[in-house]
Amino acid sequence: MVRNGLLIDYEYCTGCHSCEIACKQEHNYPAGKCGIRISEIITENPSGKHRIDNLPFITEHCDLCAARTKQGESPACVKHCQAWCMYYGRVAELANIMEDKPRAVLYSH
Ligand code: SF4
Ligand code: SF4
Repeated sequence: MVRNGLLIDYEYCTGCHSCEIACKQEHNYPAGKCGIRISEIITENPSGKHRIDNLPFITEHCDLCAARTKQGESPACVKHCQAWCMYYGRVAELANIMEDKPRAVLYSH
């Protein structure tokens, strides 16, 4: 069976939250409910410098935009990602792309 999913290359995620807003608008979710959340992770390296990563997490409310993708459209979050760092497609193809991306997450259900 072919499975589709989302690949997020968070190395380029700017933390703009456009994906969250697009998801909420697409599904008309109430406050506090969303298919994706961006967490800011701050780490300190041995030299004392701080690194900030914006790490996207898919939640249990993500339906991979079934209504949109059935019509051949991209998921709302992918369409509105400001950094073009989100991809939708077959899991096997996304996994291949992921091989060259050290900071990425792959989601499917
Ligand atoms: S794929 Fe659709 S439901 Fe899932 S996070 Fe993106 S916008 Fe939300
Ligand atoms: S829209 Fe793209 S760049 Fe902006 S927070 Fe979401 S994943 Fe990151």
